[in-house]
Amino acid sequence: MKYSDIEFDTYLKNYPDKNGYFGKYGGAFVPDDLKKAMDEITEAYFTICKSSKFISELRRIRREFQGRPTPISYLERLSSTIGNVQLYVKREDLNHTGAHKLNHCMGEALLAKYMGKKKIIAETGAGQHGVALATAAAYFGLECDIYMGAVDIKKQAPNVARMKILGANVVEVTDGLQTLKEAVDAAFAAYLKDYKNTIYCIGSVVGPHPFPMMVRDFQSIVGIEAREQFLEMTGELPDAVVACVGGGSNAMGIFSGFLNDPVEIYGVEPLGRGNKLGDHAASLNYGSEGIMHGFNSIMLKDENGDPAPVYSVASGLDYPSSGPEHAFLRDCGRVKYDVIDDEKAIDAFFKLSRLEGIIPAIESSHAVAYAMELGKKMGKGSILINLSGRGDKDMDFVIEKYGIR
Ligand SMILES: *Cc1c(COP(=O)(O)O)cnc(C)c1O
Repeated sequence: MKYSDIEFDTYLKNYPDKNGYFGKYGGAFVPDDLKKAMDEITEAYFTICKSSKFISELRRIRREFQGRPTPISYLERLSSTIGNVQLYVKREDLNHTGAHKLNHCMGEALLAKYMGKKKIIAETGAGQHGVALATAAAYFGLECDIYMGAVDIKKQAPNVARMKILGANVVEVTDGLQTLKEAVDAAFAAYLKDYKNTIYCIGSVVGPHPFPMMVRDFQSIVGIEAREQFLEMTGELPDAVVACVGGGSNAMGIFSGFLNDPVEIYGVEPLGRGNKLGDHAASLNYGSEGIMHGFNSIMLKDENGDPAPVYSVASGLDYPSSGPEHAFLRDCGRVKYDVIDDEKAIDAFFKLSRLEGIIPAIESSHAVAYAMELGKKMGKGSILINLSGRGDKDMDFVIEKYGIR
């Protein structure tokens, strides 16, 4: 599929197709039982989530509870360090709980409530998705089980405390390496046992259909707001839009608002310590086609074809694949995917803090660093960056590992 063959004015309606494919990527590669559960969620999504009652309730929640719309800020001092390009950030750090993740968690939990489910379950690695989902569960009065590897539980004490205070049940997973992969397996197993009463809430635009579509649609509020706000602020569209890509949910959120515009779009993957396998998590730049966690996409594989170990200083970007829609948008050339390493991300973390009074998440710092490089190359114009989250969670780690710069 070529860029020129795709009609982007109707793109969001036509992609994915009814089986959950973006071109050859996506689908639902799961056991039959789970496929039935996925079909039930798909069916519920198209009836419930498109109803005016659901839409108006979600709108109210976004306004009254999440604090949306989040603003766009012009970065005057940071822009002046790179020449004549104007940098702007969409402030998802100001979304309740400090990141974009709550956008899809509130949508998924509201759907769970409408479907009559009693419990929502998920896995978490660094704990960001767990905290957002525990927040949604508290808001809607749903039970919440968060599966987390024992190693991660030790490393992420503040997020574990947050989840517990919010009333979630943090389930310790002690299999294998005791990290994210084992937590995913344990959460799926628990879901299979009780899919009548529970719903599995995925943390990004990954997993089997309908999750990549559903999470994108719940995140698309970021792009809708940003396009309108940017036009109102400047009278024009940005020349480029930039977002970091782990699974790819914050990126799909903002990209979806600009796919049909004459705007260059860039996804930024983590290059970590360098381009050797195991030192980064830049799947779209270095990976190949394969199936994992129930969907077909581009992934980093080890010599056996299994998901490879990955690394990034940003734990939220540390995933061996990316959502199927990103693989599709890469192949058709609509979005360019490039990389930023740890060092440049940390540098941008301090620059945005010092020059603008905004402490970004290390994940988001990858997008800021890339926009600064891109801006220098462009020479003129404007770049809109999705600032996916705030950096409070990263401060202790950054000071300990890198010191104050
Ligand atoms: C989880 C997270 C990400 C990465 O997830 P995506 O699905 O790729 O958006 C990026 N930024 C922040 C702040 C996060 O918490």
